[in-house]
Amino acid sequence: MNRPPLPFARPSIDQSDIDAVVSVLESGWLTQGPITRAFEEEFAQSVGAKHAIAVCSCTAALHLALESIGIGPGDKVLTTPYTFTATAEVIRYLGAEICFADIEGPSLLWDVDAVAQALEADPSIKALLPVHVAGQAVDMDRLLSVAGDRPIIEDAAHALPTDVRISGSWKRIGSVGKITCFSFYATKTITSAEGGMVTTDDDALADRMRLMRLHGIDADAWRRYREKGAWGYDVVAPGYKYNISDLHAALGRSQLVRADHFSELRTAIANRYHEALSELPWIELPVSVEHSSHCWHLYAARVRPNTIDRQTVIQALAEDGIGISVHFKPLHLHTYYAERYELKPEDFPVALDHFERAFSLPIFMDMSAEDVDRVINVLRQVPC
Ligand SMILES: *Cc1c(COP(=O)(O)O)cnc(C)c1O
Repeated sequence: MNRPPLPFARPSIDQSDIDAVVSVLESGWLTQGPITRAFEEEFAQSVGAKHAIAVCSCTAALHLALESIGIGPGDKVLTTPYTFTATAEVIRYLGAEICFADIEGPSLLWDVDAVAQALEADPSIKALLPVHVAGQAVDMDRLLSVAGDRPIIEDAAHALPTDVRISGSWKRIGSVGKITCFSFYATKTITSAEGGMVTTDDDALADRMRLMRLHGIDADAWRRYREKGAWGYDVVAPGYKYNISDLHAALGRSQLVRADHFSELRTAIANRYHEALSELPWIELPVSVEHSSHCWHLYAARVRPNTIDRQTVIQALAEDGIGISVHFKPLHLHTYYAERYELKPEDFPVALDHFERAFSLPIFMDMSAEDVDRVINVLRQVPC
């Protein structure tokens, strides 16, 4: 049977997104300017942060965040092996060293006990870099208490919008740790094609990140060109070229309005998967935790041990033209991290075990009920 391929992920672009981008094209101002500023203000408000600084990617956001808290050569930063390489590579950009602590089994979130052990074994660790995997938050209440004075920089590429319970009340991710970093890459919940955002309540850190975002120049391009007679600028640091354009910001800003709705659509798909797939004896469904809401960036399932081969599942889906993915090949299995830190696969057994059995199903806003049923039917027919 020849059916059109079903992608693993697809952005949801409507007329309001198109109009927003076109109006920037018609405005005569394409790069960072008034639309970026509006996007920042609206984003800060949506997550409850004092400052939001738009950048060209979450990777740039993470780099700026670590730079702003003074991470430098030889400093140690603790993170999870169960993530995309961007989370950890930025530590190396600054000449700092990566330490890993494993995840906990069912939820795939950072194991706070493993974090506490790592900090006890090496008290010189300077900062913590948790990842809110798949759309749920790490237990920030417990993480904040084991972190002590160490700053927490959150990788929230998957966690928009996500709420986490802190001392009994719910707070939105973006208003919890010292600095939070978001991604608007094309597959993320809201997209600006490419882009990211960093949020913080700390004025000094916000100033430093704004400065380093654009060449270490003390005034941004908009002010330089728009204020009457304002021609002068001063370079006070060797900054980066990490700004976003108004073209991208217009798309992100237009999508931000629908972020909660997107999360509801994804939750409905996840619920439909749950209902239908819980009958299958060979599958382990994603596990939800009590301390966090879930925006379902990923539907990361796995095969139950000693049932069927994961490759059989992947092949069945692929043969039907269904896009799948595996999240994540843990960082310590990648050549660079394995060699630099002399790591063996068994060093982080929980991440390793999940990886060997994992497969992620398609989940995106415009996925129809028929699309979801198509995936479910293929899985029902997997020989076991
Ligand atoms: C997508 C992703 C990033 C990188 O985001 P970019 O905006 O592409 O730089 C970082 N961390 C995680 C966990 C991601 O999934």
